[in-house]
Amino acid sequence: MAEPRTIAPALTDSFGRRITYLRISVTDRCDLRCRYCMSEAMTFLPRSEVLTLEEISTLADAFIARGVRKIRLTGGEPLIRRGVPELSKMIGRHIATGALDELTLTTNGTQLAKQAAGLVDAGVRRVNVSLDSRDPERFRHITRWGEVDKVLEGIAAAKAAGLHVKINMVALKGLNEDEIVPMLRWCGAEGHDLTLIETMPLGAVDEDRTDRYLPLDVVRDDLARQFTLTPLAERTGGPARYHRVEELGARIGLITPLTQNFCEGCNRVRVTASGRLYMCLGHDDRVDLKRALREGGPAELDALLDVAMAGKPLRHNFRIGAESTAPAVERHMSVTGG
Ligand code: SAM
Ligand code: SF4
Repeated sequence: MAEPRTIAPALTDSFGRRITYLRISVTDRCDLRCRYCMSEAMTFLPRSEVLTLEEISTLADAFIARGVRKIRLTGGEPLIRRGVPELSKMIGRHIATGALDELTLTTNGTQLAKQAAGLVDAGVRRVNVSLDSRDPERFRHITRWGEVDKVLEGIAAAKAAGLHVKINMVALKGLNEDEIVPMLRWCGAEGHDLTLIETMPLGAVDEDRTDRYLPLDVVRDDLARQFTLTPLAERTGGPARYHRVEELGARIGLITPLTQNFCEGCNRVRVTASGRLYMCLGHDDRVDLKRALREGGPAELDALLDVAMAGKPLRHNFRIGAESTAPAVERHMSVTGG
C-alpha cells in the first residue's frame, strides 16, 4: 500500500529559485538523426533502463505535489514511444484538478498527423515542433533522412486539431540562415510562433558544431534592420526572449544560451528516460530517481528531490567558438530532452 503523503514544501533551490517546470524525456530514441543533435550511429539505452510509463506518471505526480506547474514531454522523439497519448492523459488529469497549469510536448512532428487529436484529448494545448528547413533536400541533409512533407502534414494536423504550434528552428550558419526570414513569414501567415535556437555543445556529434554556430545577436540585429521588433515582457523562466514582429503579426523567441545567460531566473529541471534528474542542462550533476521509484517509496523520492534542489548549480558554463570545440557535457540533448 502506498505511504500517505504529507504536504511537502515547494521545490526551491539553494539560490532561492522556485522550480515549477519539469521536462521529462520519455525516450532517448529518435526516428531522425539531426546533425547537431546526434551522431549517425547512436547507442541507445537498453529497454530495462527506461522508466515505464507508469513510473513516469508516478514521478510527475511527485513533482506536481512539490509545486511543479508545467510539464513538457520530450526526448529523443516522444511520439515514437508507444503509449505517450495515454501517459499524457495520466499526467493531464492534474490539469482538471488545478494542480497543473500546462502539459506540453516537443516533437519533430513526424508522427503528429496520427497523434495530434489524441494529444488534444489528453489536455495538451500547445506543441513545439522542430523544423530547421522547409526545403526537402536541406531538411533531409540536416536530419540525415527525414521527409519534410511528413512534418508539414503533422504541423497542419496539429493546427487543425486546435493545438497552438511553436516552431523550433536551430540557426545553422551556412545551412539554414537564409531561411530564417522566409520561416518567419510562413509562421506569421500560419499563426505559429517561431523560436530560434543557438546550437549548444551537448554530446559528441560527427561534425564540428563550431562551423555551424550562428550567434543569435547577429540574427536579431539583422531582423531589426528589416522589421519592427517589439520586445515582449513574457518570460518562461528559460533562456528565450520574445519579440513581436509588427509587420508580420508573428512572435519570435530567441534562445541564446551562449551569447546571453539567463540562468538567474531558471525555474526548471529535467528527467531523462532512465530516471536521472539533471538540475542543469549544462552540468553533469544528477540524482538517480529510478532506484527510489523501483525499490524505495514516496518518502525516498521526496528526499531525493530535496537533495537535487541543494545541488542545482547557479549557471551553465557553455562556451563555443575559438576557446572550445569540445562538448560542454558528454550527454546529447536527446538524453536530457530539449
Ligand atoms: N525530437 C524532438 C524535437 O526534435 O523537437 C524533441 C527532442 S529535441 C532534443 C528538442 C530540441 O532540441 C529540438 O528543437 C532540437 O532542435 C534541439 N536541439 C537538439 N540538439 C541541440 C543542440 N546541440 N543545440 C541546440 N539545440 C538542440
Ligand atoms: Fe531527434 Fe529531435 Fe535530436 Fe532531431 S533534434 S535527432 S528529431 S531528438
